[in-house]
Amino acid sequence: MESVELLEIYKIFDYKRSGALSEGALHQLQKWGLIPDVGQLKCNRGHCMELGPYVDCCDGWIWRCQKKFRGRRTGSCNLKRSLRKGTFFDNSHLSICQIIVFSFMWVERGGPLKDIIRETKIDKRTAVDWNNFCREVVVFSSFQTQLQIGGPGIIVEIDESKIGKRKYHRGHPVEGQWVFGGVERETNKCFIVPVQDRSKETLLPLIKKYVRPGSVIISDFWKAYDTLDEEGYTHRKVNHSEHFVDPETGHHTNTIEGLWRHLKVSLSAYNRRKIFFNGYIQKFIFLRWCHANLKNPFEEFLRFAGQLYDPTNSKVEKQRQEFQMDSAEPYMVLEVSAPEESDSSEDEDAPPQKRRRT
Ligand SMILES: [Zn+2]
Repeated sequence: MESVELLEIYKIFDYKRSGALSEGALHQLQKWGLIPDVGQLKCNRGHCMELGPYVDCCDGWIWRCQKKFRGRRTGSCNLKRSLRKGTFFDNSHLSICQIIVFSFMWVERGGPLKDIIRETKIDKRTAVDWNNFCREVVVFSSFQTQLQIGGPGIIVEIDESKIGKRKYHRGHPVEGQWVFGGVERETNKCFIVPVQDRSKETLLPLIKKYVRPGSVIISDFWKAYDTLDEEGYTHRKVNHSEHFVDPETGHHTNTIEGLWRHLKVSLSAYNRRKIFFNGYIQKFIFLRWCHANLKNPFEEFLRFAGQLYDPTNSKVEKQRQEFQMDSAEPYMVLEVSAPEESDSSEDEDAPPQKRRRT
């Protein structure tokens, strides 16, 4: 199934890893939202720029404006602008085909980078950078898609869990990370956030942020939840130590337990370092969100990449820089010890670099 889709990508690019793009490939990039449609990109005089063939650049196309203008001076614009400028492909020596294949494998496969490196034939350092760029796209997507869950009478299960605390099979102990989450029982809509601790001061604001008032919240007896009844929620408790399903009330938190299991299985495919948990969790949520909304993850990923890198919107450019400054920071600095001497396969989790496109 996947390999067929990968073949489809190569077909779009006429089975060429590099070189001038066909008109069909260009249209596909526009359909994915990665480059502007004709009419969307304006020159600095406000004319619509046109996309035309150009032999002196690797992709074979360029934006031009040759419109005439009148004013104090009369002339024609005669402007050129690179196809890649301001897009997801900007500042990279990789071909667009390589970047698309990388993105596809990153979204659809997960797991170690070496498979992607083998397929795309890009060097490891570049792959590590693109791993980070892709992570940024899913973190960005979480800001666009994160909605509150629950509502009057709707059951929401909440719970905390520690992920990544097992010793990894290579022998590196991995520090655990507390995460807090909630899931709407009927729809499986969920939120998951890494937390520093499980105190009421930490958890209550998150509940108010992610769970709509009037929801029926089901939790365990953890004391941080004691005042939920006073916060506009209906609160039901389940005693985990005694039973998974309360025999009298039928209350249970099986849905969130299932969410944690699914999350842990997903994370186990990666070399886990604590500072990247947020990136992994965001990818997990992104894939779940696509699934719940019947969206194709790869196409959704490209759509968000196109929103994060939108050359037609200079405001977005500024927002992106701010966003990247924020997200370039390690998410959970607490308790992160100095990076261990790592074997080569863990290097793919190099800390986020200062923005550097390769
Ligand atoms: Zn112009």
